[in-house]
Amino acid sequence: MTHQALKDLPKVELHCHLELAFRKKTLQRWAVEAGMGMEKDNDFAQGFLITEPMADLPSVLHKFLNTRDLLDSAAKVEQLTFETCEDMFLVSNVRVLELRFAPSFLLDAHPHMKADDLLHAILRGVARAEAQYPMAVGLLGLLQRIKSVEDNAWWCDWILERKQHFVGMDLADDEVAFPASPFAPLFQKAKAQGLGITVHAGEPNVKGAARNILVALDELGADRIGHGVQAIHDLEVVGRLVDDAIPLELCPWSNVLTQAVPSLHAHPFKALMEAGVRTTLNTDDPGVMDISMMDECKNATQHLGLTLEDLQQCNDWAKEASFIPANRIQNIWPS
Ligand SMILES: [Zn+2]
Repeated sequence: MTHQALKDLPKVELHCHLELAFRKKTLQRWAVEAGMGMEKDNDFAQGFLITEPMADLPSVLHKFLNTRDLLDSAAKVEQLTFETCEDMFLVSNVRVLELRFAPSFLLDAHPHMKADDLLHAILRGVARAEAQYPMAVGLLGLLQRIKSVEDNAWWCDWILERKQHFVGMDLADDEVAFPASPFAPLFQKAKAQGLGITVHAGEPNVKGAARNILVALDELGADRIGHGVQAIHDLEVVGRLVDDAIPLELCPWSNVLTQAVPSLHAHPFKALMEAGVRTTLNTDDPGVMDISMMDECKNATQHLGLTLEDLQQCNDWAKEASFIPANRIQNIWPS
């Protein structure tokens, strides 16, 4: 299958963390300007990119925090947002793009920034991209399960008070040590107010992780599941995903890097699809993981056993499952 045939396919990206979706050249320049001594590409890669399966969590976390430290102004956040959208369109022909971000994640490091300034910087970046390219971009507010219910309740209300700017809400971070159940009332509240709900669940290769998918569906009212790759180990969970037509936001390369799966070849993407699950293809963290949607598509066809028709099917499901209103998608989708 040619590069052009893959590129020509209009794409949908549902699972992308904005804070970790930077353009490499730009982040490297900011790192140099900050005096971090990152002039050499190799040093920058060491400090900011995850390019092989991670050996330990602290070293990966360190790279996330390095990136966060550099995102210290509204101007940078606007540029980051615009370039993320632009690269998605120009490199990969992504037409529908959902970007998720946790205001608490950036503001923890930059207390001088205000949450509304951050949101408006992101909105300016999105507006510029939508004016320039035929794409529809939507924002998801992300709650961090490593924080208290009280903190998250505050952010949930903050998001709901600005819900004209959001299409959905997500729950992220360590799902093993921090169960989702305590956050259920917040997600039920957001769902009742019309936001789409997605929850990171069934991601790590830990016994029983697949059951977290059921909690996300039954207690948090999830419309989609972030990752959910471990569902393959639990027939009941697969049956539930099929029966309820719940899409999985699969991120194969991210799964390899975090060792959620042992290799691309061992990834159950195709097996889940053949079992009748609505599988979608996503990048997770295109900046820090140094991967574009085009790279993901190539991996999918070269290592996951997907055909161009399979990819088209996944994009159809993703388009249908997007929280962005259908009329906005209709306006930009090529006929
Ligand atoms: Zn994620």
